[in-house]
Formats: sequence, C-alpha cells, structure tokens
Amino acid sequence: MNKPMILVVEDDSAVRNLISTTLETHGYKYHTAPTGEAAVLEAASHNPDVVLLDLGLPDMDGVDVIRKIRSWSGMPIIVISARSEDTDKIEALDAGADDYLTKPFSVEELLARLRVTFRRLHGTAAQGDSSVFQNGALKIDYAAGCAFLDGQELHLTPIEYKLLCLLARNAGKVLTHAFITREIWGSSWENDVASLRVFMATLRKKIEKDPSSPLYIQTHVGVGYRMLKV
Ligand code: CA
Repeated sequence: MNKPMILVVEDDSAVRNLISTTLETHGYKYHTAPTGEAAVLEAASHNPDVVLLDLGLPDMDGVDVIRKIRSWSGMPIIVISARSEDTDKIEALDAGADDYLTKPFSVEELLARLRVTFRRLHGTAAQGDSSVFQNGALKIDYAAGCAFLDGQELHLTPIEYKLLCLLARNAGKVLTHAFITREIWGSSWENDVASLRVFMATLRKKIEKDPSSPLYIQTHVGVGYRMLKV
C-alpha cells in the first residue's frame, strides 16, 4: 500500500520541521509549503491525502486557502491554529476544513487527528452511498427513516433524527454550531444554538449509555460536535 502523503502548510520553520519529522518517523510522505500561495500550488500538483494547514500565513488568510482548495477538491484539511484564533478556527471549519488542532499540540494529538481523518476516508469509501449507516451498536436506516441501538428502534423526534443523520453523514468531522443550525433550522441565531444544546442533550439520553461521557457524539466546547467512529 502506498504511504499516505500529507501537505504541511506552515510558515514557522521550527513547527514545520517538527511536523515533517513526526510524519516521516510514522511512515507518512510529505510536502511542505511556507505560504498560502505555495500551498494552493502544491495541493493542485501533488493531490495530497491530507492537508495540515496553519491559519496564520504571511501572504494569505488560511481560510482563503481552504476556499480555493474547496473550489476543486474535497481533500481532507486539518487546520492548525493558535488559541487566540478561535473565531478563525470556526470560520475555517465552516469554509470546509475537516478538523483542527490548537497550538501548542503534541505529536500524539497530531497523529490521532490523522488517524481519525484516514478512518473517515476509508469508512466513507467502504460505505459508499449505502442506505444504511452502522457505527458500533448504532444503526440508521435512511430509507426507512429510523434509527436503532443494539437492534432496538430509537424513538426520536424529527429534529433529533435529522441531527443524528447530519452527524452520521459527517462522521469523523467536526461540525460547527452554525453549520448544524443552518442545516437543521435554516438559520443560525443565538436561539438556535441554545435549542441545539437542548436537542443534543435529549438525543444523547437516547443513544448514549452514559450521556455524561458520550461514546458517539463528542462536544467541542465553543465550536460544535463530532460523531466518532466507534
Ligand atoms: Ca503561522
């Protein structure tokens, strides 16, 4: 099997070298780009399996790099941002980034995010456009419009079901509050985010054995939610 190829976009040479060395040690191939312009060129010419993208670049806003790549490719993009760039991180996810890492991050965190991304890619390929979603004990039959846990049908309200399907279709990917509320209600007001929390709590009570330490749906405080592949 070919080694996965990662494009590392980072203007700070120390961080870039740390990431490259980590990738090399763990059996990945990589290309690097120190600017947004180089990133778009490298992404187009090498078609990497994953892009690791620093948001604070000297020549271009990282979010614009995502928009450019998204205009022709769905390649996974993991954003790397400083803690002070929280709103940029959310904007990046809404522009089509798949996941994020906050600086400073550990090598283990970086490798874990890559594993999640590859699992998602392979999961999507294996499931194709199947009408049934299976994740651990959780099953959604899209055609029948119902969901099951351990073979027992779940009694979900229409909104809970919509929410579960949205997370399932994007399993492995962090979805922002704004994205989810727009998909569910068509708008994204403060009130919708508050409602989302309520529906998420009731959904979790139905699908999680222990809603206080959820197995299927992970909370990203201040950002959104992600369904994990179990
Ligand atoms: Ca930077």
